[in-house]
Amino acid sequence: MSVQEAWMKYDLYNPSDEHAILRRSIRTFAEKELEPQAEEFNNKEQFNIPLFRKLGPLGLLGITTPVEYGGSGLDALAAVIAHEELSAVDPAFALAYLAHAMLCVNNIAVNADDAQKKRYLPKLCSGEWIGAMGLSEPGAGTDVLSMSTTAKKSGASYILNGRKLWITNGTVDDAGTPCDCLLLYAAAERKEGERTKISTFIVTAEDKGFSVGQKIRNKLGMRASTTAELCFDDCSLPAERLLGAEGEAITHMMRNLEIERLTLAAMALGIARRCIDVMCKYANERQAFGKKLHAFGQIQAHIANSYAEFNAARAYVYDTARRLDLNKPGNRLASDAVKLIAAPMAKTVADRAIQVLGGYGYVGEYTVERLWRDAKLLEIGGGTNEAHQKNITSDLMRAL
Ligand SMILES: Cc1cc2nc3c(=O)[nH]c(=O)nc-3n(C[C@H](O)[C@H](O)[C@H](O)COP(=O)(O)OP(=O)(O)OC[C@H]3O[C@@H](n4cnc5c(N)ncnc54)[C@H](O)[C@@H]3O)c2cc1C
Repeated sequence: MSVQEAWMKYDLYNPSDEHAILRRSIRTFAEKELEPQAEEFNNKEQFNIPLFRKLGPLGLLGITTPVEYGGSGLDALAAVIAHEELSAVDPAFALAYLAHAMLCVNNIAVNADDAQKKRYLPKLCSGEWIGAMGLSEPGAGTDVLSMSTTAKKSGASYILNGRKLWITNGTVDDAGTPCDCLLLYAAAERKEGERTKISTFIVTAEDKGFSVGQKIRNKLGMRASTTAELCFDDCSLPAERLLGAEGEAITHMMRNLEIERLTLAAMALGIARRCIDVMCKYANERQAFGKKLHAFGQIQAHIANSYAEFNAARAYVYDTARRLDLNKPGNRLASDAVKLIAAPMAKTVADRAIQVLGGYGYVGEYTVERLWRDAKLLEIGGGTNEAHQKNITSDLMRAL
């Protein structure tokens, strides 16, 4: 039995049968199908599209989407379970999953109108289409309101111009094939003295004027997920591609950032859990000075601190997931805080795992080297640690 299996006997909050079965089935998929390809796709810097499409029939691609639109109609807790399990094996694949299922699909499921949901969600939930979300730009990340991609109203259409950067699933391959469906944030043309009005749009691969710029290669981690620049050059969209009302994007963004940050925190749990498993096994096998490694106090500190910190983060992530209502914003404080706790925890635990394994930890064979590189992204994507500190403090001050 792996160390992970031993913990799972003490699963949190007496999971419902549905949640327990979900975890079991994703874990089986992860062990049988994800694990054998993870190192290879990391090395090739490629996204495993055929494997990704298999998540459709498993009901994972529209995990939080209502059943009537082709989804599974599950809650935030289910989404956390999925991200934790996938990430324990292949965080880059889990990131591609997050970009599709949370950033694109969940956002459409929560914020689009009925006709839009009927048109786009079934294909996204089945795996026929791959989705992405475009918010960040070359000159605007944390300071999102300074975005310069514009959507100018022209008759019954919107004309988009600008660039988005760092878009996971933005392209799906080396040939620059764009994602099938992009949830895009763009600003109305700024008028002197007015606040920036940002709107949400759906862009599809066929739209003229939409193209993939550079594919970002040589990333530190998350190498089996694709990252791209997306270009909009007089890209004309019919009015029905606008989600909600003009200028309503901040609400969409805020609602969706909560589940995004929570599931990124869940990815941190998967990474840490796997690293603890690897370091425990190694410390029980490797001998030095006539003893097993786990007999040494400094190795015990690495293992025990990792175990305790992982469980503290896990309790917070699951508690937040149980409270999070996908349709109502109101958990910004907790979703910022869980990611602020969980992301550095994963990086620290992965770092300790490398230390426990010594030279073997530094190379690919034992996986912890890849997990350490992947963990770093969690301190940047979906909001940097500093952005979470800023948000948490401003929310606490507002509450006074
Ligand atoms: C692999 C990868 C995948 C990604 N996927 C997506 C995606 O699918 N869609 C998408 O839209 N984006 C995506 N991103 C972008 C990501 O969300 C941004 O990188 C992130 O929000 C930070 O923005 P930035 O890189 O512009 O950094 P900046 O905002 O320029 O920040 C640079 C530094 O300054 C700090 N800083 C900025 N403002 C403040 C402040 N007010 N107070 C204190 N410190 C501050 C930051 O914390 C950071 O340390 C991805 C990024 C990566 C690396």
